[in-house]
Amino acid sequence: MTSHIMPTYNRLPVTFDRGEGVWLIDENNNRYLDALSGIAVCNLGHAHSAVHKAICEQSKKLLHTSNIYKIANQEKLADKLIEKSGMDNVFFCNSGAEANEAAIKLARKFGHEKGLDSPAIIVMEKSFHGRTLATLSATGNSKIQQGFAPLVEGFVRVPYNDINAIKTALAHNKNIVAILVEPIQGEGGINIPAPDYLNELRKLCDQHELLLMLDEIQSGVGRTGKFFAFQHNDIIPDVCTLAKALGNGVPIGACLARGKAAQLLTAGAHGSTFGGNPLACSAAIAVLATLDNENLIELATQKGKLIHDGFTEHLKNNSHVVDVRNKGLMIGIELDRPCAELVKIALEQHLLINVTNDTTIRLLPPLIIDELQIKLLVETLSTIINDYTEKTA
Ligand SMILES: *Cc1c(COP(=O)(O)O)cnc(C)c1O
Repeated sequence: MTSHIMPTYNRLPVTFDRGEGVWLIDENNNRYLDALSGIAVCNLGHAHSAVHKAICEQSKKLLHTSNIYKIANQEKLADKLIEKSGMDNVFFCNSGAEANEAAIKLARKFGHEKGLDSPAIIVMEKSFHGRTLATLSATGNSKIQQGFAPLVEGFVRVPYNDINAIKTALAHNKNIVAILVEPIQGEGGINIPAPDYLNELRKLCDQHELLLMLDEIQSGVGRTGKFFAFQHNDIIPDVCTLAKALGNGVPIGACLARGKAAQLLTAGAHGSTFGGNPLACSAAIAVLATLDNENLIELATQKGKLIHDGFTEHLKNNSHVVDVRNKGLMIGIELDRPCAELVKIALEQHLLINVTNDTTIRLLPPLIIDELQIKLLVETLSTIINDYTEKTA
């Protein structure tokens, strides 16, 4: 049968019919352990009753009004996000790329108000910020940019986790107004920077009057053991973007701002038809309440350690494993060879994983994963890895 979907994805040969917690169930009733959460989206697992209840209740009342009117759920969600972040205000949109677009526009506005005609933003090698023209231009991956030139101007690229490279860029370019960076690089291979990297970035931004803009689209909403990954450091950014897990599968994105950055996007300067609609906000409100009620963020640290220690133990005799690294439930297992094939091999064993940056197995399990499921994940995947490196040696 010919498909009438544009061929933008290499899809695996499975169709899921429903989910229950960490499990996805296919059309033939096979159960798969989901260690990817729809790419860091379903942090509460699938079909969580709190999200289900919230969107059912809201859909009985009102789905959408547009931002021409006040929206009570949007106000409520913004209050919660501000309380959690220490930021000042929020712009709501529908995806990660859109949240970063808002951040990029905000940085440009900041530059223009400083009197710069061509403001520039420092971005990182191996970063990922989305697929719209501006966000793919900000992204540090030539595969993602291939075929879409001319790219959006105004980005200066430096290596990740390299403060001196930023100092050099600043010395050579008077147009730089902001730094856009992931606290942990997700698509780039679960790259965790030096512990004081964000503190150093904060210092540089203060010295040079730059906006520190953190892309927390993958690392945010509890994934790393804090609501925001930047909360592992004693800093606060000027701009911060969220999406993925914020609605547990209901599309919603957010761009949070603080201080002078919070006053730049004024009436008429930016907008979104769907952004922050009553339905999407009802889901996000339920997500934030559930993370607190079930203590899931604190537990993510312990669960991440269990997983890290489990893999370290099961893979200790495998010299082809370069590194096992994690921050909470953002986990990377790097091999000494390309291993994209592992995704299919794991699927055949009813385990859902991902490989990113060619050689790194990426795990983003739901925060509700329990100890038995962790044991199953570690044992199944370790066997798969050991068989694979033996076979391809
Ligand atoms: C997924 C992701 C994005 C893009 O989000 P979309 O909702 O797919 O547009 C941006 N930045 C990071 C760090 C991401 O992980």
